[in-house]
Amino acid sequence: KVRTRFAPSPTGFIHLGNIRSALYPWAFARSQGGDFILRIEDTDLERSSQEAVDVILQGMSWLGLDHDEGPHFQMQRMDRYKEVLARMREQGLVYPCYMSVAELDALRERQMAHKEKPRYDGTWRPEPGKQLPPVPEGVQPVLRFRNPTGGVVAWDDKVKGRIEISNEELDDLVIARPDGTPTYNFCVVVDDIDMAITHVIRGDDHVNNTPRQINIFRALGKEPPVYAHLPTVLNERGEKMSKRNGAKPVTQFRDEGFLADAVVNYLARLGWSHGDDEIFSREQFLQWFDLDHLGKSAAQFDETKLRWVNAQHMKAMPDAQLAPLVGEQLRKRGITPDERLPRICGLFKDRCDTTVALADWASRFYLPVQPSAEDLAKHITEGVRPAVSMLAKMLEGVQWDRGAIAESLKEVLRATGLKMPQLAMPVRVLVLGTPQTPSLDAVLELVPREVVLQRLAAA
Ligand code: GLU
Repeated sequence: KVRTRFAPSPTGFIHLGNIRSALYPWAFARSQGGDFILRIEDTDLERSSQEAVDVILQGMSWLGLDHDEGPHFQMQRMDRYKEVLARMREQGLVYPCYMSVAELDALRERQMAHKEKPRYDGTWRPEPGKQLPPVPEGVQPVLRFRNPTGGVVAWDDKVKGRIEISNEELDDLVIARPDGTPTYNFCVVVDDIDMAITHVIRGDDHVNNTPRQINIFRALGKEPPVYAHLPTVLNERGEKMSKRNGAKPVTQFRDEGFLADAVVNYLARLGWSHGDDEIFSREQFLQWFDLDHLGKSAAQFDETKLRWVNAQHMKAMPDAQLAPLVGEQLRKRGITPDERLPRICGLFKDRCDTTVALADWASRFYLPVQPSAEDLAKHITEGVRPAVSMLAKMLEGVQWDRGAIAESLKEVLRATGLKMPQLAMPVRVLVLGTPQTPSLDAVLELVPREVVLQRLAAA
């Protein structure tokens, strides 16, 4: 059974580039009938925070990236890591190293002076017939992993193709600190084994860790999973997208009025393709997703494009489904939406790229409007005032529906000799606060009669 995972570190708020590393493993598990596991890598106590965990959980739940297991927290698995460490020690897979920081620094300097790559020289690595230095007093050792010395570590990366690293390039990794706490690469391997992960799909910033992790897998008698290392997501300035250079938290896109399905659609395309298809539903994505069409080059985030994708999804969304989302935005402004909202959404959604923009329009149906002085001066002319009053009079008595309202408008035109725009523009400005609205009768029908009369009276 396919089992994938997303393993974020809760250091800073998760952004769209990060969440793409959740989307693909989620989609792969879902499309294969597998399991998707959420694991929070919170061992960096100084930089991890509960707020960051919350943003991960809220962002994933908003986007519908549901997990079958977890969240597991690495900090809660410390006993397990220590148990595996103890066993490895018994089996001679790790060894204590007493080299001090000063000695390590000196070693590094010597190597750099000879233009060599700095690496641990194996001083404390036990070998048959080798005399180890005397154990210094009062020094807590680190534990190092006995990396194989010959041969290569190789894997067929689903994105990058075959990768081979010579073991000569890898020194003996520290896998426990002097205080006994396990280090990052080791925890990841123990977790991936215990959680029976079959496919590791993650950012390619981890590609250098992979040969080390594979060696630890094999030392523990396990075959490593399939790896797919995703190319970086760049921001609009072409830098690696990061929390530090201003990438917005995922949840901010929800607050700014983006639809979850649109964000999923946009992120899906940011590094994966299905022919020329740009706009697709979540269901289509899951049907189509495969690891073979992951892109090989860095993808660049483009908010303008995301807005366009969002607009397409808004257009396609049934009004009854869109209305509750716009309703949420209205509630944040202290407006209680009512049964008119789906129809308001239907009238205005074509001209909006977020639910916030749609809520801006909808709020004109619920709160007093403030036409600009410029619009008032331009459209509410002396010549048109009598026509507006005439219309108001007529609207007092008609049945409140689109047909009757349209009829009243026409009657005023007949009586005054005005052209439709000459009457419609001022009425739009007065009733909705702007001359740019869809068909006037359709708009007026959705404003209660008393409100229309009151707003027209302002002329
Ligand atoms: N915690 C790592 C990160 O946030 C991911 C580790 C992994 O996927 O193996 O970059």
